[in-house]
Amino acid sequence: EMFGQLTSGLEAAWSKLKGEEVLTKENIVEPMRDIRRALLEADVSLPVVRRFVQAVTDQAVGVGLIRGVRPDQQLVKIVHDELVKLMGGEVCELVFSKSGPTVILLAGLQGVGKTTVCAKLANYLKKQGKSCMLVAGDVYRPAAIDQLSILGKQVDVPVYTAGTDVKPSEIAKQGLADAKKKKMDVVIVDTAGRLQIDKTMMDELKEVKQALNPTEVLLVVDAMTGQEAAALVTTFNLEIGITGAILTKLDGDSRGGAALSVKEVSGKPIKLVGRGERMEDLEPFYPDRMAGRILGMGDVLSFVEKAQEVMQQEDAEELQKKIMSAKFDFNDFLKQTRAVAKMGSVSRVIGMIPGMGKATPAQIREAEKNLKVMEAMIEAMTPEEREKPELLAESPVRRKRVAQDSGKTEQQVSQLVAQLFQMRVRMKNLMGVMQGGSIPTLSN
Ligand code: GDP
Repeated sequence: EMFGQLTSGLEAAWSKLKGEEVLTKENIVEPMRDIRRALLEADVSLPVVRRFVQAVTDQAVGVGLIRGVRPDQQLVKIVHDELVKLMGGEVCELVFSKSGPTVILLAGLQGVGKTTVCAKLANYLKKQGKSCMLVAGDVYRPAAIDQLSILGKQVDVPVYTAGTDVKPSEIAKQGLADAKKKKMDVVIVDTAGRLQIDKTMMDELKEVKQALNPTEVLLVVDAMTGQEAAALVTTFNLEIGITGAILTKLDGDSRGGAALSVKEVSGKPIKLVGRGERMEDLEPFYPDRMAGRILGMGDVLSFVEKAQEVMQQEDAEELQKKIMSAKFDFNDFLKQTRAVAKMGSVSRVIGMIPGMGKATPAQIREAEKNLKVMEAMIEAMTPEEREKPELLAESPVRRKRVAQDSGKTEQQVSQLVAQLFQMRVRMKNLMGVMQGGSIPTLSN
């Protein structure tokens, strides 16, 4: 099983939480040590492990209790989500050129599986209905050209060759011209690998890159080399500028260090993975599936997700009841405002929330600033005042105290109190509409 050792290392962590009621600063210490050890043994680089463990700890301690979910299950979910984030979150698709052929330049050290990837990639893209051409740019090993030609035949894709006497950048240019003439969708250019990084190779790659102006520059790295792979991606990116990595030999007994470190260390995503020697064994890199495989706990994950949904549903119903009975207080106000602010920042990132898509970054910053001001004032209220806003509405003395304790003006506090009552009215009206009632007239 892929990453089997990592999986069993993490299992030790969950098992330490059996019998616990909630996650606490104290009972999380031992499991976190197990997680740290498991990641280091998987050859994840140390700074990455440190940041990961910190992120999981912060969340585990701050996490609210979900009814029916055990702490160990909750920790599995947190680790899963952090693993997904660590690996880049979303799947990172290949980019295609809108005009002319898409040029994909492949680089990599010898033996990592670069030549194989050329043919696998052509095969993969062909299945998506794209016509492909391979260009044999590895002029140092005559065998490499032969190998590419054979693999090209195998996947039924033309291979442009120009022997070993022509400069790689020249071969690349000629190949691209030929592909344009033949109206190819994609040109995949193979380059020379070395046993290790040297200046000649880098200079040559730079030259080829300049000659091609490629859409994608992908570094092929071997998963068996662990965090070394991540370091290579970093170096190549700094030297020639790359768009991503292809991780090969994930079917072997690699420990996971490469898959987990590449994005975090280099900032560049893994776009594709090779999982075998056959031409079909190339697929997109899905961080969530990978995390799921590492944890081997699909059922636990979906269970926790469902429980979270149910809880949010109950929260919403609770809120609705409060609104109906005009009990909507400052605690609810805070919850509501925070939820809206969060949606705002999400919409900025993904721009997909209807009606919020038009919020400009400046507006969102403003909303977030306002939220901070409100939070400060609400935090300066006593629990009683938060539950009974009437107390503040009736007492200038109380408002003055809140203003002083929060460092805001009395006017700001008055405004906040007024806002809450306005919100009560608005929500009652809205509920009336939603339940088919008529809109009640405002009374002051
Ligand atoms: P290059 O020197 O980088 O061009 O490497 P090759 O493409 O010649 O591959 C080197 C060896 O690794 C060959 O025996 C390939 O069959 C093998 N190989 C490549 N990719 C994979 C993979 O994803 N899984 C496995 N198990 N072997 C692979």
